[in-house]
Amino acid sequence: MPPTPSSRRGIVLILSSPSGAGKTTLTRMLLQDRDLDLTLSISVTTRTRRSSEVDGIHYSFISEKRFVAMRDAGELLEWAEVHGNFYGTPRAPVEEILAQGRDSLFDIDYQGTRQVREKLGADTVTVFILPPSMKELRARLERRAEDPREAIEKRLDNARKEIARWKDYDYVIVNDDLQRAFDDLIAILRAERQRRPRREKEIEKFVAQLLSE
Ligand code: 5GP
Repeated sequence: MPPTPSSRRGIVLILSSPSGAGKTTLTRMLLQDRDLDLTLSISVTTRTRRSSEVDGIHYSFISEKRFVAMRDAGELLEWAEVHGNFYGTPRAPVEEILAQGRDSLFDIDYQGTRQVREKLGADTVTVFILPPSMKELRARLERRAEDPREAIEKRLDNARKEIARWKDYDYVIVNDDLQRAFDDLIAILRAERQRRPRREKEIEKFVAQLLSE
């Protein structure tokens, strides 16, 4: 029997970008495409919930006390402080997905990306999404109007620092056309799924069978 996709090693696909570069929209598009079978890792955060967000879907909104307890108990695969709030990735759900040979999607910053890469090594694929211009980035943040004015300035300041980290990533996509950026992401995922080291065991079995015919 030809190898099935589920018999390979699972991938952690990490998307990072400054806020407003379109990462949330791209994440949603990836998740809506059922054939891709990607599972979003739902982060915990101490940030206040925005009116558009649902607890348990976009984030699990938790207190700082709870965050510290989870972190100290080793329940977070990675964590970081971003814009004065804490964010972290719960470890157990990710391990479960990977053990099934399925892929997990992370929307985390560069600090978290570094930690995940250190822990999971070759199982990570990292993509940095750049906005087409700083002007467009500001416009997107203002249009979104979900954050107070000072928060937008803080996010723009931070965006410059985050953009400087682009060399930490395997792939870089400039999001000047949403559909093209999405197509590029799918191409990356499809190619990464076919990489030999991820499929070594299943292909080895398959080839042994092929050659025995
Ligand atoms: P926002 O507050 O706009 O939802 O997210 C702010 C930043 O925090 C984004 O760059 C996002 O990728 C990052 N972030 C969200 N969840 C996590 C997480 O679990 N860990 C890390 N390191 N960063 C995260």
